Amino acid sequence: MSAATSTRPADATVGAVDTHCPYCALQCGMTLSRAGRASVRVRPRDPSAGGLCQKGWAAAALLGSPARLTTPLVRDGGALRPASWDEAAGLVARRIKEITADRGPDAVAVFGGGGLTNEKAYLLGKFARVALGTSQVDYNGRFCMSSAAAAAHRAFGLDRGLPFPLTDLEGADAVLLAGANPAETMPPFLSHLRRAMDAGGLIVVDPRRTPTAERAALHLAPVPGTDLALALGIFHAAVADGRLDHGFVGDRTTGFDEAWRVAAAWWPERVERVTGVAAADQRRAAAILAEAASAYVLTARGTEQHSTGVDTVGAWINLALALGLPGRRGSGWGCLTGQGNGQGGREHGQKADQLPGYRRIDDPAARAHVAGVWGVEPSALPGPGRSAFELLDALGTPDGPSALLVFASNPVVSAPHSARVAERLAALDLLVVADIVLSETARAADVVLPITQWAEEDGTLTNLEGRVLLRRRALAPPPGVRTDLEVLHDLAVRLGQPPERFPADPETVFTELRAASEGGPADYSGVTWDRLRAGERLHWPVPAGPEFRRPGHQGTPRLFLDRFAHPDGRARFAAVDHKGPAEPPDEEFPLYAITGRVLQHYQSGAQTRRVEELRAAVPEAYVEVHPDTAQRAGLRDGAAAAVVGRRGRVLATVRCVPSMRPDVVFLPFHFPGAQRANLVTNPALDPVSRMPEFKVCAVRLSPAGEREAQ
Ligand code: SF4
Repeated sequence: MSAATSTRPADATVGAVDTHCPYCALQCGMTLSRAGRASVRVRPRDPSAGGLCQKGWAAAALLGSPARLTTPLVRDGGALRPASWDEAAGLVARRIKEITADRGPDAVAVFGGGGLTNEKAYLLGKFARVALGTSQVDYNGRFCMSSAAAAAHRAFGLDRGLPFPLTDLEGADAVLLAGANPAETMPPFLSHLRRAMDAGGLIVVDPRRTPTAERAALHLAPVPGTDLALALGIFHAAVADGRLDHGFVGDRTTGFDEAWRVAAAWWPERVERVTGVAAADQRRAAAILAEAASAYVLTARGTEQHSTGVDTVGAWINLALALGLPGRRGSGWGCLTGQGNGQGGREHGQKADQLPGYRRIDDPAARAHVAGVWGVEPSALPGPGRSAFELLDALGTPDGPSALLVFASNPVVSAPHSARVAERLAALDLLVVADIVLSETARAADVVLPITQWAEEDGTLTNLEGRVLLRRRALAPPPGVRTDLEVLHDLAVRLGQPPERFPADPETVFTELRAASEGGPADYSGVTWDRLRAGERLHWPVPAGPEFRRPGHQGTPRLFLDRFAHPDGRARFAAVDHKGPAEPPDEEFPLYAITGRVLQHYQSGAQTRRVEELRAAVPEAYVEVHPDTAQRAGLRDGAAAAVVGRRGRVLATVRCVPSMRPDVVFLPFHFPGAQRANLVTNPALDPVSRMPEFKVCAVRLSPAGEREAQ
């Protein structure tokens, strides 16, 4: 594969720079260097770790893209026009002051993203709580990992995606992947599963026969929305077949009896009737995991993005606990975090219910600690706000915010029930979007602020194994753009904050973040940029104590080896039961629609759709469907189809795939306009995590030209 290049000059002072990919949470290492006079070349830093996927190889292309925004834009007479930074930022600050004076601080909301660096996520949360005084702040990570995070907190007392180093997976004989398709979403990850694949120990749970499922020894394809029942069935099989780890359950857990009382009613034959997964395959899955010397259960979005997502992940954790996997070297449960800084982004305060260090905003001690670092009274900090979809849904309503500031997110494409979200954005008095390109959300804004890209700024991210990484600036930003930190600094000062309270230098912000996180669950106080520059591999928590400061000390690569994080040191089984999807198919909408990602695109596609190599490979939305289902709808391969649901219709080209279940259609969610998969997705929320049910809703299929009664 050829390395993609940018056409913009690199920093005169910079040669080759070791950094990390801008996309997913695997955060593959890459070296950026000049190739010839005026371009940036990407190459993998550690080919033995799987190299880079196509997105990573092409990452530099966007650095010199003509689609790049390089001047602020303000809406004038209905259209966006170029403006100076002074005009744009002045307008934003003035309107915020007017709206706040009129309707109070909660009338202004902030929406962040899981791609923001730790420093940006931290300063954004502080900006919301201190400069704006609003409780209305949340971020798109609520859509991604929040169910796994809540389930991990409930089970273990702490959430870190993988509570062990990624490389531990290389020793695994068996791995169960529930709702994960890394062969497309993060291909280099598969290099860590080679042993399990060679040993016939890879089990994949997915309604589709994905490229990952193709590599599995056992592919379990449940009816969409029945993952929880399947997990109960495998748990049941493990216990009934005498595979329960009595010693581990007795010594290190509580709640088994209550969980078993529910699971006892889910024997594999009953589960087969609900999920379609053969009872024998459930028993085989239990046997593969139990008989392996080293085994892991890993969950991802496919099993998490449900209105019962927390309980579904809880059911997979129950299985892992029953087999004695968590808290032991060489085995465990983990969540495959998706977004680039999905882990760090949920730790440092841009979430509606959190303060930095993974502290709860309703905890008086946490409020006092963070308020002390910020130099404000604890009583001045607002309480918890609305979760992401609830916040978007409330915009422009009588009780909801009338202004919104968006950083690193494109909710017009990525939020569920996206037509409703676009309608709410249009009802705002002020929409401000900071982005690198004119995304679909930026197009709807009153003010657009052009910002720097990953390779043009320094910052830290925390990858899927809880390891803090330094992403390095490799080239100068184009004239006219600012970093998010500079934007927040400028706005805070215009809103009357002392300049030193909102530093724009990322290392200074990180130093403050360390203090704010000290003593919290995600303690970064012992991490310094100097240690990261020196190449130290630090997994949080890294307290500031002397034992953690020894050179070469790795922080806490493996959590829970001695005890879990609950006060009694024990993990909790969860008594969870199967409920099914919030919107099951019926006569009018007889098919399940499921959504997901493709190899070439990332999230809303705002970046990857603008990279020619990636766009050319997958230029538009498609719908995967079984040939018989297509035929019944009057469609053939390559035809234009409408996927119609209760909230809208999606236009997509038919791809007939014989391995698809006849009752399921699959839509990738990277495309805009009438091709948005989220026009049909269901915003039904998990009651605990408030994560929407992206992964299953009811639809019907018809030729695109046919008039649909809605
Ligand atoms: S797997 Fe993820 S981090 Fe690695 S190159 Fe691909 S998108 Fe980038």
